[in-house]
Amino acid sequence: MGEPLIIEDKKIYPGENKIIDLQIARLTSGTWIDMPVYVYRSKKPGPVLLFMGGLHGDEVNGVEIVRRLIVEKTLEKLHCGSVLAIPILNVFGFLNFSRDVTDGKDVNRSFPGSASGSLASRVAYRFTNDILPVIDVGIDFHTGGGRRTNYPQVRFWQEDKKAEEMAQAFGVKYLLHSKLIPKSFRYQAAKMRKPIVVYEGGESLRFDEFAIEEGIKGAKRVLQHFNMKEEYILPETEPLLFSKSSWIRAKRSGMFRLFARSGDKVFRNKLLGIINDPYNQYEIKVYAHKSGHIIGHNNSPVVYQGDPLFHIGLL
Ligand SMILES: [Zn+2]
Repeated sequence: MGEPLIIEDKKIYPGENKIIDLQIARLTSGTWIDMPVYVYRSKKPGPVLLFMGGLHGDEVNGVEIVRRLIVEKTLEKLHCGSVLAIPILNVFGFLNFSRDVTDGKDVNRSFPGSASGSLASRVAYRFTNDILPVIDVGIDFHTGGGRRTNYPQVRFWQEDKKAEEMAQAFGVKYLLHSKLIPKSFRYQAAKMRKPIVVYEGGESLRFDEFAIEEGIKGAKRVLQHFNMKEEYILPETEPLLFSKSSWIRAKRSGMFRLFARSGDKVFRNKLLGIINDPYNQYEIKVYAHKSGHIIGHNNSPVVYQGDPLFHIGLL
């Protein structure tokens, strides 16, 4: 029969597919909130791979990517190993159209969490204790925060060679070195020696079909990388690896019109946008401060001084 995977007290044996409902906490109305975990196991041994969305509850593109991987049966009939698919980690944030849980705390800054802590801390605790011990590697699907959109990109910690391999296998146009932030999910996973890469694509609370499709293709390439599936989609371009990135910020508050977009290659001093006040008293031109690629931009038509406008990936 082989060794079971054990999540909470539930056993999933090789060759089985199951949905495990992890009970997280109650809503104020008394209704229990479950976090469904889809588990797919091949009869053959192999790595346990996590696909997860909705760590930030308003980042719907990641939720949609994992949902489609499930509904399109991509994760069934694996040649080896196992997959855990979680469309929404932060169900509370999702219900409230919010990045955070109801008390305003970010689950992604609450790891490893505590069984008796705040709601964000409890969600993180369940994840740290019930999911992280079971997996070997993972892909965490995100989008830009607020009204910022990200061009499809994969981020990983440069010290983690396994994460780098996975990021390369994912096969999107942009790869970015990204440090581990204390108390984040990725930080906790690295402490437990579980390589995680973060896929970023699109904007919060807005479907971006290109970002969704790129995420699905990347997930399929990673499945192939671990010999879990045969289907392979060639990457369209050789990935560009940025070791650093830098934000161009608004020098003044006002209305922001942009002339360049995520995915564009830019040279230093190229005109990227204009900020003006609504009464034409002033006009501020926004230039590229360095040469690189725009990996994210702000879609807000009105910005405050200091707001991030363009995120530039630097080679
Ligand atoms: Zn996020």
